[in-house]
Amino acid sequence: MVLAELGRGIAGALARMKEAIVVDERALADCLNEISRALLQADVRFETVRDIRASIKRAVNLDALADGTDKRRVIQKAVFGEICRMLDPGKPSFTPSKGKPSVVMFVGLQGSGKTTTCTKYADYHRRRGFKPALVCADTFRAGAFDQLKQNATKAKIPFYGSYTESDPVKIAVEGVDKFRKEKCDLIIVDTSGRHKQEAALLEEMRQVSEATKPDLVIFVMDGSIGQAAFDQAQAFKQSASVGAVIITKMDGHAKGGGALSAVSATKSPVIFIGTGEHIPDFVAFDAKPFVKRLLG
Ligand code: GDP
Repeated sequence: MVLAELGRGIAGALARMKEAIVVDERALADCLNEISRALLQADVRFETVRDIRASIKRAVNLDALADGTDKRRVIQKAVFGEICRMLDPGKPSFTPSKGKPSVVMFVGLQGSGKTTTCTKYADYHRRRGFKPALVCADTFRAGAFDQLKQNATKAKIPFYGSYTESDPVKIAVEGVDKFRKEKCDLIIVDTSGRHKQEAALLEEMRQVSEATKPDLVIFVMDGSIGQAAFDQAQAFKQSASVGAVIITKMDGHAKGGGALSAVSATKSPVIFIGTGEHIPDFVAFDAKPFVKRLLG
């Protein structure tokens, strides 16, 4: 994962700052420049980098530090805290509870890995004692229902969809009702992705969300999309209230910066990452240990 390169970049900046003879404004500026460069190279958008830089600077405030304070440590802590905040804005997302019915809606562009991720998410919870079910509310893409059906069958998860009905809202409502009656405690609604953030797609997301009243909307994003992530995430956030992010394809050449931008656009934490095409290739995500490892 190329995110590791970002980690090395930041760790390198901190190491050089530690070696500086005096830690003054100049040394701090050099360190921040180097961190900013690493972030930009990892495809984090400029505005996000600027915000991160300003936050670290605010958190450090060299002038206000008492004599004898370990400035290197203060800087290191500020950088660690800020990188963690980028991946986890601090507002925990809704987590489903066993035996209590909840509806989780998945949104994202076509090709992001949404349908695969729905199954991974269902399977992850099934292994932990949940009774999940999948609803295919993607009536736009021919073959979407077949794909979900195939995945669901492989993972032994009940599913609902239609080859003939063209109204996604109707299918979503029917599926959610059916599985509520069957006492499923985690009803997952897969939605259409199409391939552009066209207004119609976002309007459809709004309608499906209004009709099914999800407890959580998860935005699924291809980890390799880079700079475009922020606008994409923000557009979805505006039509359905995104509460969590899942980043897919982190096994590939994703630089990871897109993930950081998506979090800052949605103010929602990354809860899982996809690490391959298969159902078990799915890892729960926790920012702090991740950043600790990332920064070495
Ligand atoms: P959707 O159009 O958003 O529903 O996307 P799909 O679920 O059909 O996934 C698109 C492609 O990405 C498929 O070939 C998936 O196997 C692949 N894919 C999904 N998640 C991952 C992942 O975490 N890693 C890798 N390498 N491929 C993935």
